[in-house]
This record gives sequence, C-alpha cells and structure tokens, in this order.
Amino acid sequence: MIDLHTHTLFSDGVLVPSELVRRAVMKGYEVIAITDHADASNIDFIIPRVALACRELGRRWKITAIPGIELTHIPPETFAELTDKARTLGAAIVVAHGETLVEPVHPGTNRAAIEARVDILAHPGLITREEAELAARNGVCLEITSRKGHSLSNGHVARTAGEAGAKLVLDTDSHEPGDLITDEFRKSVLLGAGLSTERIAGVIKNSMELAGKAVAALGK
Ligand SMILES: [Zn+2]
Ligand SMILES: [Zn+2]
Repeated sequence: MIDLHTHTLFSDGVLVPSELVRRAVMKGYEVIAITDHADASNIDFIIPRVALACRELGRRWKITAIPGIELTHIPPETFAELTDKARTLGAAIVVAHGETLVEPVHPGTNRAAIEARVDILAHPGLITREEAELAARNGVCLEITSRKGHSLSNGHVARTAGEAGAKLVLDTDSHEPGDLITDEFRKSVLLGAGLSTERIAGVIKNSMELAGKAVAALGK
C-alpha cells in the first residue's frame, strides 16, 4: 500500500507522526507521505518538523515515510509561490487541496494548482476536461480518494482523467487511525470509481513512480 496524502496533529489529524506511521506499518503500508494542511502562516513550521520525524521513522522501521504538505484553501494566485516554498523547505510531495463538492474551496484552485505543477491535485471535484488535459501536460496526478464526502466525485475524476490522459493516484487523506486502508480496500475503491483492472494497475504504478521521485528528491 502506498498512500501519499495523510494528516497528523500538525494540522487536523489526531495522531503524532510516529503513531500514524506505526499504524501504517501494521496496516501493511510500504510508503506513506505526511501532508498536513498549510498556508502562508504555518508552512515553515510544519515541513521541517515532519521531515525530521520521517527521517527518524524511516531509519528505524520497515516503511518509507515522506515529508509533504497539502496547500489548503490558499488564494489560487499564491499557488506557484507556496509550491516553490514548500519544496525549498523540504516537502517531497506537494498536494493541493482541490475543489471538492463539499467545501467552499475557491473557484480556480484546481487550475492554479495544476499550473503550479504540484505533485497531486487532491479530490478535484468536478474538474473539467480542459483542466485534466493541462494536468496531463504538466505531469500533475489527479486523486481518487477513499475519504468520505471527498469521494463523491471519484467516478467523474476517473472518467475525465481517462479521457484527458491524466495520471491518477489513490490516497486516503487519513485524519484518524480508522482512515488507513488495506491494499484490498484500495482495489475496491478503484473498482467503485469505475476503473478497469488494467487502469487500476496503472494507478498503483503511478503512486509507485511518484513515491520513487519523492525519495530521489529527498536524497539530493
Ligand atoms: Zn483535513
Ligand atoms: Zn487532506
């Protein structure tokens, strides 16, 4: 199991990084990225601390822990600047909190995140075909999510990404222990999104490749 979008109590998750990663190990995870919610106020506070925890835990336990960030409800025009800042501070995965159906995310967020070349546009709601095509060109992965509410548009995201040739990844957006999933449940969520067995294999491969890229960036 590879999961590149999770939260700890550095934002609105309930666990410290050590417990989240410990529980992920027990769930059979190979890779986890910790991507707490950030804006201009806390980005420099979160990333170095999470990076320290990920280094420690990855050294001691049989899991790859990747420090990341989720740029959340930020003004769309600040995406480029904060994406750069996140990478400079040591975030190896930059997630953008996309335009879900269930929150007042600023319109234009999906497009701004794709233009800023974040790694993952999370739960992008009713993303347009044109935006998905731009994501394909910019190498931005679109997210299928197992999270309640955010998953309402999984079918639309899967279909639109397929038409546009954009890459998909699946993440849990975990905030609590019960949000972590097994490899089996991941497959069920992807089948539920309408993906074929072949496309499911592609989604898993995309997650592996993105995780590999992130680990390589950390090594630099
Ligand atoms: Zn959250
Ligand atoms: Zn999230």
